[in-house]
Amino acid sequence: MNKFEQLGLNESLLKAILDLGFENPSEVQEKAIPLLLEKDTDMVALAQTGTGKTAAFGFPLIQKIDADNRNTQALVLSPTRELCLQITNELKNYSKYEKGINVVAVYGGASITEQAREIKRGAQIIVATPGRMQDMINRGLVNIKNIDYCVLDEADEMLNMGFYDDIVSILSDTPDEKSTWLFSATMPQEVARIAKQFMSEPLEITVGTKNSGSSTVSHEFYLVNARDRYEALKRLADANPDIFSVVFCRTKRDTQAIAEKLIEDGYSAAALHGDLSQAQRDGVMKSFRGRQIQMLVATDVAARGIDVDNVTHVVNYQLPDEIETYNHRSGRTGRAGKLGTSIVIVTKSELRKISSIERIIKQKFEEKSIPSGIEICEIQLLHLANKIKDTEVDHEIDNYLPAINNVLEDLSKEELIKKMVSVEFNRFITYYKKNRDISVGGGERRERGDSEPREFSNNGAVRYFVNIGSRDNFDWMSLKDYLKETLDLGRDDIFKVDVKEGFSFFNTDPQHTDKVMDVLNNVQLEGRRINVEISKNDGGGRRDHNNRGGRRDSGRREGNFAPRREGGFRSDRNSSRDGGSREGGSRDGGFRGDRNSSPRREGGFRSSAPRSEGGSDRAPRRSENFGDSSRPRRSRRD
Ligand code: ADP
Ligand code: MG
Repeated sequence: MNKFEQLGLNESLLKAILDLGFENPSEVQEKAIPLLLEKDTDMVALAQTGTGKTAAFGFPLIQKIDADNRNTQALVLSPTRELCLQITNELKNYSKYEKGINVVAVYGGASITEQAREIKRGAQIIVATPGRMQDMINRGLVNIKNIDYCVLDEADEMLNMGFYDDIVSILSDTPDEKSTWLFSATMPQEVARIAKQFMSEPLEITVGTKNSGSSTVSHEFYLVNARDRYEALKRLADANPDIFSVVFCRTKRDTQAIAEKLIEDGYSAAALHGDLSQAQRDGVMKSFRGRQIQMLVATDVAARGIDVDNVTHVVNYQLPDEIETYNHRSGRTGRAGKLGTSIVIVTKSELRKISSIERIIKQKFEEKSIPSGIEICEIQLLHLANKIKDTEVDHEIDNYLPAINNVLEDLSKEELIKKMVSVEFNRFITYYKKNRDISVGGGERRERGDSEPREFSNNGAVRYFVNIGSRDNFDWMSLKDYLKETLDLGRDDIFKVDVKEGFSFFNTDPQHTDKVMDVLNNVQLEGRRINVEISKNDGGGRRDHNNRGGRRDSGRREGNFAPRREGGFRSDRNSSRDGGSREGGSRDGGFRGDRNSSPRREGGFRSSAPRSEGGSDRAPRRSENFGDSSRPRRSRRD
């Protein structure tokens, strides 16, 4: 008997759970489900974001609904359209083996008559945003006078968004005898007020510490000058070729502008905010879920509660005003037990906010330096090499090989390799040779005007490259331990361990260099020889710049980069444009702009099919047309 069976769930749900691949209930599920199944009760459940609250109310709800009765028996209120659709979808998955259950989503921006029609056909469960629900009640398009269950999901956010009056009014339209289940990440006063006003003796469940962030998320900040914010964002993306991220801005305008700039610069990005039409937003979300977009630039409201698997990074392009909002943002990653990184790009004047956040989330930030151009080039190059190594060959190619061989036959293997990787690499090296170092570390970091990497003369540390990484099941901590043991060094002798997918970097003081080179180059890891080299960069040896004393790499968490995903070197730079802007025109030619504006703009290896896990059968490389067929697509320029 698995743990879900012990909770009292019925056969059809257990079967659906098997399909979902959930092995064990999460804590909030374990606590809430038996209570909700056992009796009709009100409940307040507090659990941080990403802990599985949807199923915690969804499973019991599906089990309790009478499928033979076509009347509306349950109302789930949720703050945004995206969330409303997400919950609807989840509930449909949960009930797929339960005949006759209909779940209908009701939200603004789509046809109200169509939604009314769907309800009329018999919807036992309505999932709604408060505004549209109120609208439907006013127009007499829905009857919730006899519901048995009302779920308030993400209650804190609904109230944050100013839905208090709507919620009160909607609840007044429901019978007193119903059960109300309130799910929330936090319990601000307004939520407590709703609970007090509309619930009777609710059972209370709290999972984890109130207001604390998820422990699967590590937090990092990068100090930059205000004018370098955008450049920093690009470098972070370049230093993480497999990034799959939500980038938060404060306003719709910034959101739109940053997304456009990224697209302009050849990144696969799109904007998500409230000024887009519903169709556009749906299109963006679909592309993001399908991983045709690597960087979803979003406002807090639009991205609230979004649950997309395997988001590797949340980027706070600008910090939010409210610390609570930071929690919601970082909760977009590190979901379902996976690791994630929340990055903050911060200027000096905002630094004290970092300390406030640390106090609230009870987790420390790691301070990191924006990767230097050289470091990025190194990462990109090795990523490309690994990508080439791992590429599966489709034998269709055999047909073309004779002609290709013909062209390339005079090249030696070495030349061929050099040229092949250069196709891609040249863009990065050319770009970064010309671009200055933007890290605000150590104060005296010099601007680099030529190709000589000045960071070479670091403050003593030697940086190494080693050909083992997360693919070999290392994270920074285990690699540090491994190195320490293998090299018989102390804990603090190895620092700045940065684990990527197929390789890693670390530092030691120079007196250990001989040992590192001798010993490591002669050990094997599961039959494979380890190769260690002195890296061409110091990885920003100096980083304790602003009196945040004691933060200097003493074994604190190193980045959680190197997400484990499939995916192209170039990923999908074919950029989907979100429908928000129309200035389009011909994006081909003509608009080449400053060649220096991004390493991604030029050339090369435009790689293969759009990214999707497990290799997809999707059409090769195209951008999604977000419900706006008049908009020209950006097509490849190379
Ligand atoms: P919350 O509402 O608490 O923020 P969600 O309900 O959106 O969290 O769930 C977060 C993610 O965890 C979803 O992708 C969901 O499919 C997954 N998940 C939920 N419960 C389980 C479970 N028992 N085992 C594995 N994954 C789960
Ligand atoms: Mg949720």
